Amino acid sequence: MPMRWQEGAEKIAGLVRSHDGPLTRELVRKPGRFGLGQVPARLAPDAVARTICGFCSTGCGLKVHLRDGEACNVSPDPEYPVNRGAACPKGWESLAPLAAEDRATHPLVRGDDVALRETSWDAAMDRFVAGVRDVQSAHGAEAFAFLGTGQMPTEELMFLGSLAKFGLGMVHGDGNTRQCMATAVQAYKESFGFDAPPYSYRDFEESDVIVLVGANPCIAHPILWERVCRNPHAPEIIVIDPRRTETGEAATQHVALRPKSDLTLFYGVARALIERGAVDAEFVESHTRDYEAFERFVEDFDVDRVLEATGIDRAAFERLVDVIARGERVSFWWTMGVNQSHEGVRVAQSLIDLALLTGNIGRPGTGANSITGQCNAMGSRLFSNTTSLLGGRDFENADDRAEVASMLGLPVERIPDQRSLAYDEILEGVREGRIKGLWIVATNTAHSWIDQNDFHALREQLDFLVVQDMYPTTETARLADLFLPAAGWGEKDGTFINSERRIGRIRKLQRAPGEALADFQIFRLIAHAWGCTHLFEQWKTPEDVFDLMRRLSEGRPCDISGIEGYRMLEAAGGMQWPVRREATRDGALPDTDRRLFADGRFFHPDGRARFVFEAPRPVEEPTSDAYPFVLLTGRGSSAQWHTGTRTDKSATLRKLAPSETRLEIHPADAARLRVVAGDFVEIASRRDAMRVRVTVTAIVPEGSVFLPMHDARTNRLTFASFDPYSHQPSYKHAAVRVVRAADADGGSTD
Ligand code: SF4
Repeated sequence: MPMRWQEGAEKIAGLVRSHDGPLTRELVRKPGRFGLGQVPARLAPDAVARTICGFCSTGCGLKVHLRDGEACNVSPDPEYPVNRGAACPKGWESLAPLAAEDRATHPLVRGDDVALRETSWDAAMDRFVAGVRDVQSAHGAEAFAFLGTGQMPTEELMFLGSLAKFGLGMVHGDGNTRQCMATAVQAYKESFGFDAPPYSYRDFEESDVIVLVGANPCIAHPILWERVCRNPHAPEIIVIDPRRTETGEAATQHVALRPKSDLTLFYGVARALIERGAVDAEFVESHTRDYEAFERFVEDFDVDRVLEATGIDRAAFERLVDVIARGERVSFWWTMGVNQSHEGVRVAQSLIDLALLTGNIGRPGTGANSITGQCNAMGSRLFSNTTSLLGGRDFENADDRAEVASMLGLPVERIPDQRSLAYDEILEGVREGRIKGLWIVATNTAHSWIDQNDFHALREQLDFLVVQDMYPTTETARLADLFLPAAGWGEKDGTFINSERRIGRIRKLQRAPGEALADFQIFRLIAHAWGCTHLFEQWKTPEDVFDLMRRLSEGRPCDISGIEGYRMLEAAGGMQWPVRREATRDGALPDTDRRLFADGRFFHPDGRARFVFEAPRPVEEPTSDAYPFVLLTGRGSSAQWHTGTRTDKSATLRKLAPSETRLEIHPADAARLRVVAGDFVEIASRRDAMRVRVTVTAIVPEGSVFLPMHDARTNRLTFASFDPYSHQPSYKHAAVRVVRAADADGGSTD
């Protein structure tokens, strides 16, 4: 049962009193300074608190109902502009993960007997400092790196990245947004001049043509699918996906192309649109660059080449082109089917190219729109201080470093002058012996990273692994040398930024159990233990950090200087960036649904968007006689989230999810393998094998099979290839073989 916050306050006060080290004396003297003595004082015991869901990037508003000071129920917020009273099962079950029996309640340290054992916060901080310093002394400051998340509030992400780099001297850090959004980030930066998803969710309701690529919102973003269903214009809905997903089934056209043939398809569409005269010449002339080179480039993509590469028929191709050409308000949307690709950046940009070509940007119902994954992927992109400096700046730019140093009151030498390694490069650094320590915060690398066996082998090469999480039971936490127990969503304050750039306020509703602390407070403790508190004098509360974010953003594309604080955010029902200071000067609130580029000006210095393009490349692990199937992976159901660390805690969500992992296989392939629904097969890649029952379904195309990512075994099969520009892993293409389990055992059931 979740603890009542009054009881939690007493427990924490007891914890503070029970310590007697120098750190503890400081806590006792000024408990409020560390937030440990604070309770959610503004919430009455039977209040209804408004907050934002902590799972996906849709960013639904939720009402949390309190009884006797305890959060007892959740309902969707009918007044929040994103979801208007709807929520998917994960949102309704938001409280269940907080009450899980395996919540972390104490720091844990690995003893000489190799077991993780409870320890005090003082001892944990001593161990943290000693472990990091040992690695840095022996191998250099760069040898310790951190991996963060898109699940924490922006204020905590900014604190983590700033503490690690400016305080502890680390140079390298990245986050699990590398696994979901890095491709969109890179694509937007190159094409628009800044990482700037241009849309508002209202565009779903205003398009007359909606093109969804590698996206299955019925399952992955169900509230956004509801927005599509509210569209009063009877839109054409085109789903481009190898699988005939739930969304593909509901579409007006499903284009079932071969896996990873999308880039050729979109270049072919561009050529066909140009041939039809569907180019918005005035827009292209006034607001873009490099169109002529793009036009010459796509000449090579004639219909025959497209049909051969994609496997679709001529009528389907012509219909696709015709619908886009005739559409007046065409919007292009993509998610992981594009982002998680060996050439995802160029595919995303091919959709941006189509939007630019046809002038479908900056107007209602249009746009080249990436739907993000995690609840705070956008906050991570702008403020996590990982591969880009705070506010979307550049570590390698001296002016940017000086500006940040001045705003934060830091010596400029504290800011690294080199770009951080990306997630995959950090792990390569471990392989090469350049990275010897990792601090993993709120992400489950040992389940989610691609080619898991390789990651587990790399862990053996680390001298020191710190894991900070809500649960000591995750696959990653179990590998830790030091485990720090963290509060979860609902137990801390801050903000998230959703897919449409909307900043929403999340609320602390109850205390974390035992001695677990909000990540924000853990970072304060670490700063204190390390001896760098003086660098973070201004960082006492999440709202202090929000204020720093406002200052850092001023004059940038992501300007939020006009948001005067959490109370304004709450009153406005979330606010989309940009919100410049002058926009709210007289107490006004900007429109609740805004898109970018209505004036045709992009963020490159010349104000023009770029056509960016490159020849398609073959996948790095093609199918072969030995491994004839393509393995596709993705979300299993709307009741499941990533590695299941939270959704598996809810009995309701477990009932809504499939009771076991099933491999989807096409009926023709099943017949060839002589398996029927429910039979066991062995699926093997060059890296590992797993045994699983099959679901025989035409959802998957012939020659492909599908596994949900929620099973930890799935990523033992995946093949580690990466987009060269975004470094995002390509989870959706590996060569595998499938055989009947009986045949794999060497026997036969015939
Ligand atoms: Fe939460 Fe996303 Fe579901 Fe909305 S759609 S309730 S944000 S998980």
